[in-house]
Amino acid sequence: MAHTNACDHEHDNRGLAGDTLTRLLAAAEARCERAGQRLTAPRRRVLELLLQVGQPVKAYDLIAAFGDDGAPAKPPTVYRALDFLSKQGFAHRIESLNAYIACGGDADGHGAAFLICDCCGVTREIAPTGTQEIERMANGEGFILTTLTVEAHGLCQDCRS
Ligand SMILES: [Zn+2]
Ligand SMILES: [Zn+2]
Ligand SMILES: [Zn+2]
Repeated sequence: MAHTNACDHEHDNRGLAGDTLTRLLAAAEARCERAGQRLTAPRRRVLELLLQVGQPVKAYDLIAAFGDDGAPAKPPTVYRALDFLSKQGFAHRIESLNAYIACGGDADGHGAAFLICDCCGVTREIAPTGTQEIERMANGEGFILTTLTVEAHGLCQDCRS
């Protein structure tokens, strides 16, 4: 499920495994409970896959990797889980890549910003400055924001050299 790199140099892998992964999944479970929600098995599995990759993943790759036994999931199962995870702030949809990524922060707000490398695809979540401003302007227009995602494309440090 690794994404394909256009270049041949090494990129640091931000995927999670072992204790860190277990801890984050437990924290997500606790956060759901506090919000009166349930991290059901499919939701948990999709979040686990997103955290393991640590980079944007396309829905069809999640569907293919879903089963522990190698069996693919029913697509609606994964789409519904992604919908839940996005709404609860555990994941973000990256429109320009048509992919999803686990949230790198723990904010419940709907603002998020990403630096996306067009060469290797490495995507990093950064603090979304300026989104409060947009939110304020939206509110002024009587517009209710549900998501606000900044997708900045360019070249990462590895790919520049
Ligand atoms: Zn986030
Ligand atoms: Zn790169
Ligand atoms: Zn590169």
